[in-house]
Amino acid sequence: MFNIKIWLQMSPKHLYRFWFEVEGRLKKESKIFLMLDYDGTIVPIAEKPELAILNPKVRLLLKNIVLRSGKFKVAIVSGRSIKDLKSLLRLKDIYYVGVHGLTVEGPNLKFTHREAVRVKPFIVKAYRDLAESLKGVSGVFVEDKGFTVAVHYRLAKENRRIIRERVLSVKAKYGCFRLLEGKKVFELTPNIDWGKGDASLLLLKRFRFKHFPIYVGDDKTDEDAFKKLKDKGLTVVVGRKRFSEAKYYVKNVREVWFLLQKLLSLP
Ligand SMILES: [Mg+2]
Repeated sequence: MFNIKIWLQMSPKHLYRFWFEVEGRLKKESKIFLMLDYDGTIVPIAEKPELAILNPKVRLLLKNIVLRSGKFKVAIVSGRSIKDLKSLLRLKDIYYVGVHGLTVEGPNLKFTHREAVRVKPFIVKAYRDLAESLKGVSGVFVEDKGFTVAVHYRLAKENRRIIRERVLSVKAKYGCFRLLEGKKVFELTPNIDWGKGDASLLLLKRFRFKHFPIYVGDDKTDEDAFKKLKDKGLTVVVGRKRFSEAKYYVKNVREVWFLLQKLLSLP
């Protein structure tokens, strides 16, 4: 039977309904680690990945948060490659977490998961296989992200199931991948239990857990971070979800921008 108690526990609460309470908590923290997903979190989801451009006002907000370096550290935690993130954000002194946590880069830090390095040559091969097998399918875009290969199908007319089957057959050929299913994207990644949450903990650990983490994200891959940071900090999912490990939700990207403003005005 469906358990109503579990449902209530799993349903995030609207952040701004409880803002007074949350702000009170934040005011007590001298150091905050702000961790933000990119697509669907600080930038609305775009038809094509390259069209997801950061609003200059939001970029300035982020920059001003980064400048308050005594209080804030900032990380962008995304499924995109770090190279891609850097060119989209053009911000110094922040941490970039790329390809769902497999790589991390920032001031005095460069990390790549060992298994990602090992699997990299197979990613190159899988990319070629997928590009070949999906060649005739219009609106599908295969992306080699270095440590993973992604199949974007937002613009595809073809049945999602057919695309998925082709991705699965390439996955089966190599046996060293797992399938990540995001928003209109299938992705083959190294078959390891390592995600955005682990990379977030790696960052917190680097500063001896002195920071109070705030994690905001919108996708399935962010659930890993919500789970791992739930008891440590503030977790916020973008969009109203019935099931999420996040404690709070905001309605949309605009409400995330509003949160950035609120954080900047913290003492
Ligand atoms: Mg996202």
